[in-house]
Amino acid sequence: MSIEKDSLTLYFSAFKHSKEATLISNKKGQLVTVNKSCCDLLGYTKEEMLTMNVDELLPHRFQKDHHHRRESYYKSPQNRSMGEGYELYAKKSDGTEVPVNVGLTHIQENGELYVIAFIIDITQQVESRLKLEKLNSELEQRVAERTQELATIINTLEKTESELRVALLKEKELGDMKSRFVTLASHEFRTPLSTILSSANLIEKYTQTEQQAKREKHINRIKSNVGNLTTILSDFLSFEKLQNGVITVNIEEIELKNFIENSLDEFKQNIVDGKVIKLDYTGDSCYKTDITLLGNAINNIISNAIKYSRENSEISISVTVSEYGLEIQVKDNGIGISADEVKYLFTQFFRAKNATNIQGTGLGLNISRQFVELLGGTISVQSIEGKGSTFTITIPKNNEL
Ligand code: ADP
Repeated sequence: MSIEKDSLTLYFSAFKHSKEATLISNKKGQLVTVNKSCCDLLGYTKEEMLTMNVDELLPHRFQKDHHHRRESYYKSPQNRSMGEGYELYAKKSDGTEVPVNVGLTHIQENGELYVIAFIIDITQQVESRLKLEKLNSELEQRVAERTQELATIINTLEKTESELRVALLKEKELGDMKSRFVTLASHEFRTPLSTILSSANLIEKYTQTEQQAKREKHINRIKSNVGNLTTILSDFLSFEKLQNGVITVNIEEIELKNFIENSLDEFKQNIVDGKVIKLDYTGDSCYKTDITLLGNAINNIISNAIKYSRENSEISISVTVSEYGLEIQVKDNGIGISADEVKYLFTQFFRAKNATNIQGTGLGLNISRQFVELLGGTISVQSIEGKGSTFTITIPKNNEL
């Protein structure tokens, strides 16, 4: 018996009772010997195994590759693990697979190279790893869900905060508006009230019969200022109602032509500086609308046309009732509005620079716009500063009111 043979026998006896599955294969990959643990692990008898090639112990998908690796191992044998970089499985006799770690070493026997493989069943390790991976992914999933929940909570909080901010801002705006109202009211009421007072004082002094003309002049002044006060008060009232959304629209057939003519008569009675109002009415004298809303808008733009135009100038009003609806234009040759201010005209409290010396609240046009819009219409303006303005109210027919 040669020394090598002795060493091979020694190896066999060392591995025979080892708990670690061990096999020895020759250069062709044929199994030369296997221990009991190896047979137990793979489910073969020793006799069966000794007829097999080591390639057959691998699942089909590893076989071709293994063949090449085995050949290159024989060219430069060394002690190493098998299947580094990928998960290795051994195929059992029943076709099932078992995850394994395989350590390789080699011996020379009679000039021939033998490869010894130590096979360790790592099923438990793999199961633990898979469990861990599953736990990890569940944890990640829970973290993601929790993050999502937190994001939703933060989102809701941000929304609530921004809603609160809007509500606060609204509250502040309302407060600002109320104090603006008080300032405006006290300012706008003072002038007409002092005019009324001074006219009343003067009337008291005009006791002579021949002073009737002077008395009438002051009576007219009182009337006109009371009219101004009434307008301001009704503007305040309309504005408040619009703010609270309590304006209702009541459509009914009205005598539009009559309504406008009567309004103009009232305006004319109060004109003292030679202004002339002309009306051009075309179409049906009746119209279906809410006359409280429309009347307020019409009266406001006519009273503005009178207020913001020069002595003896002409104010032309054209009303057209047609199959398309209603169009009302009020044209004056007054102070006009500068091009850069026109866009603010229908904003509440806005007053143009050239109007600061003329009484007003800056509410009328804003109210008119909202009233006309409630009727499904629009109000627009064309103006040249110093030359005059034309305001147009358009209310299309069949606007489903
Ligand atoms: P008020 O006349 O009480 O100031 P309005 O809302 O009716 O308020 O009008 C807003 C502003 O628009 C006025 O202050 C004035 O500057 C300008 N404006 C309105 N109508 C005319 C007009 N016919 N001609 C020139 N400016 C006008």
